[in-house]
Formats: sequence, C-alpha cells, structure tokens
Amino acid sequence: MAKPLTAARMLAALEGEGCEVVEFRSWRTHNRNHKGDWGPVNGVMIHHTVTSGTDASVELCYEGHSTLPGPLCHTVGAKDGRLFMVGHGRANHAGRGDGDVLRAVIAERDLPRPNDSDTDGNVRFYGIELINLGDGEDPWPEAQLDAAARWATAICRAHGWTQKSVIGHKEWTDQKIDPSFDMAKFRGRVETLLG
Ligand SMILES: [Zn+2]
Repeated sequence: MAKPLTAARMLAALEGEGCEVVEFRSWRTHNRNHKGDWGPVNGVMIHHTVTSGTDASVELCYEGHSTLPGPLCHTVGAKDGRLFMVGHGRANHAGRGDGDVLRAVIAERDLPRPNDSDTDGNVRFYGIELINLGDGEDPWPEAQLDAAARWATAICRAHGWTQKSVIGHKEWTDQKIDPSFDMAKFRGRVETLLG
C-alpha cells in the first residue's frame, strides 16, 4: 500500500534522477479525482501515443478528447528527452486490466499474460505517454528511452519499488499493443539506473 507522491515530491524525484522536466499549464491540479480513486499506487505504466509532434501530443494528453477526457497520463515523453508534466492524480491512461497482473506487480513477481479486464488501473499506476506512432517504423531516440527509464526509476526509487513494478500497457491488458518496444529490456534499464 503506497500513498501517491505529492507533486513536489514527484518533481524532486525526477530532478534527482537527472530528468529535464517541463511543467505544463495547471498540471499539479489537473486530474480525474472527481471520477474515482487515485491510490493506493503500486507501479508505473509505459505507453506510446500513436501521435507525432511534441506540442500536439502534449496538448492531446492534457485535454484528452470527446470520448476520453484528459489528463491521459501524468507525463509525456518527447523524442528529445524532455518530460512534460500534464497531470497529477487520477488520469485516464491504464483503463481496465487484469487483476492477476496487479497482484504480480504488488508482489514484484514475473507477470502472467493478461486475459481479464476486471481491475481499474487508473487507481494503481502512474502513467507516461511516449510520443511515437507505434507503427514499428517511427524511431525511438536514445534520449527519449533514457528519459522514460529515468522517469520510471525516479518513481520506483521514491516508493522503494524495483524494476518489477514497471509494466507496459500491453502487459496490463490484451486489448493494447503499447509500447512497441521490448519491456524486459526497458526494465533492464531501470534495474541498472536503480543500481
Ligand atoms: Zn496505452
């Protein structure tokens, strides 16, 4: 059981991990807390946006769209490595997923394959949207992957979690394919950074 980090603690953790953070609009009070719980938190979730362009992607993740109001995550990771803070609190990023996966994350065990949609992930996970078309062609610059790993590491370190608390959206539900990169390798980066 972990209480979510305050906005100030989140920023300090990211700064401590060497992240370049951009505070976007009223991110500190922008959330979906009026629609449901935020916390206890148990892990972090990695996504890709299926968009291009930093400004348009950050705007979309802040505002959301007609069928899914923003924030659509807590942080947007740009291709140049900058991290845009777009929300703090409950965000519409994880949706429903598999409770067996959540139990594995809590126990920091290897993940089972998701096959259920019985659990609200927006309560439990911090989320980052990485700007990428997700078509397998759009490149993943090292600056972007490094920043994403530092973002995940910062939150894990602040909560005392290991890299096993880091999952991809595709590991939460069989309805999603993001992110398009290998999550085991990504967890390896976080493990290295955690030292
Ligand atoms: Zn996603």
